Amino acid sequence: MWAGYTWGSHLLTLGCIWTGRGEEHAATLTFDDGPDPEYTPRVLDVLGRHGVRGAFFLIGERARRAPGVVGRIVAEGHDLGNHTWSHRSLWLCGPAETGRQVRQGHDAIADTAGQAPRFFRPPWGMTNMALFPVLRRLATPCIFWSVQPEGRRAVSAPRQVEASLRRVLPGAILDLHDADGAPGAGARLVEALPALIEALSARGYALVPLRDLL
Ligand SMILES: [Zn+2]
Repeated sequence: MWAGYTWGSHLLTLGCIWTGRGEEHAATLTFDDGPDPEYTPRVLDVLGRHGVRGAFFLIGERARRAPGVVGRIVAEGHDLGNHTWSHRSLWLCGPAETGRQVRQGHDAIADTAGQAPRFFRPPWGMTNMALFPVLRRLATPCIFWSVQPEGRRAVSAPRQVEASLRRVLPGAILDLHDADGAPGAGARLVEALPALIEALSARGYALVPLRDLL
């Protein structure tokens, strides 16, 4: 039962979004697990200096604690995504808790941002059978990624840049972390981000908002 509900649901992730259109030399930077009161503003500073807009997949309870940072993300033209209420693995959530994690996250972000999130990303990319009907009702497509330079384990800033350049292709969705997760993720991202943006630009990639990549 459990295996069908969790692993089986990943057959449905063929309907999720892993990359954008490949015909253009464009990519999108996406940021998970914030807002972080210290590091998200520094990430926004770097993006602002480079004129890059990305997408922030926020955790609802963190959004409630840092509404000013959420307001800044919106004011500076970035896309908003829902990353659940409290970042529980959906492999451990039954249908009722899945609905609560998604809706409460969605509502918290909508309240603090003054606009509903357009996208959804599940923590660690884990889905279950109950998730997709909830996402359809909220009209938030499930967004995965094609490049993830740091996941559960810490990866140094230079290695994150290297790994991204090795894997990037036109239409890439890069999955970055502006908050823990892996301890110290925000600090490593602030270190990696200027070099990452400059290297992708030097390769001819336009870094566009997620809504424009899809
Ligand atoms: Zn996450």
